[in-house]
Amino acid sequence: MTNTSVTPTSGTWMNGARCVVMLTFDFDAETLWIGRDESNWDKAGVLSQGAYGARVGVPRILELLQEEDVPATFFVPGWVAEFHTDKVAAIHAAGHEIGHHGYLHEWVDPKEPEKEREALEKGLEGLKSAVGVVPKGYRSPAGEVSQHVAEMLLEKGFLYDSSMLDDVFPYRSTLRDGSPGVIEVPWSWTLDDAVYALFSIKSPRAVFTNQHILQVYKDEFDAIYKWGGVFNLVMHPQVSGRPSRLELLRAFIHYARRFPDVCFAQVQEVAGYFQDNEPPFEARAIPQRPAGR
Ligand code: ZN
Repeated sequence: MTNTSVTPTSGTWMNGARCVVMLTFDFDAETLWIGRDESNWDKAGVLSQGAYGARVGVPRILELLQEEDVPATFFVPGWVAEFHTDKVAAIHAAGHEIGHHGYLHEWVDPKEPEKEREALEKGLEGLKSAVGVVPKGYRSPAGEVSQHVAEMLLEKGFLYDSSMLDDVFPYRSTLRDGSPGVIEVPWSWTLDDAVYALFSIKSPRAVFTNQHILQVYKDEFDAIYKWGGVFNLVMHPQVSGRPSRLELLRAFIHYARRFPDVCFAQVQEVAGYFQDNEPPFEARAIPQRPAGR
């Protein structure tokens, strides 16, 4: 029986690190609200929640990352690159990675492959024309990715995807014909700030204190450190760019730094490291719809 729960890279990351922390930001801005409801184009109040991420969140986050001297990865929809070009250019100029995050934060419908292609291609064009970036990584806008999108990522030359939730370690993904796809760097709702602090009037939820969120981050980090894994923190500038939440991020950075052999890295570095030390490909089974369903 093969051991599929621990990868050969566990506990041995770049620069001898035992555990890697990836600080990632989904810079959705207004598209978070437009992507879920097109009528929001006309609702200045709703859109202003996303505008906060661009106007205040991103500059403050960049300041914090510089003060703490840590790298980060920003997943940016093509429209955001076109509309908030100065902010995306500032992210790029600061040396942070820019990944693909759709064009208008589309919710993938696997029944409309042509729309999936359009979103992927327009997203690529937006990043290229606005800031001259050809992204190595992709994170699906709505936490959803189809087999068709997975195939297109390989076709378009992406190094990795970060949309799946089925592991803690990076792995080589499997396409629906059983062949290898791009590298997958999985994430988890547990390490997503939106779960704890993104309020929406249409789906209201309790807003958690920093103490609560930091405890979740710390507990998860402690265990991932023990495993020798990668810690993939998913944040949104409109959430983690709030004044108190910035201090939460700073507190977590300081906490992780107290452990020996921890490194902070961009997702493309982790994917690249995996590729350079890649174990033989093992296809993962893909659920198949039973006949007649
Ligand atoms: Zn997003």
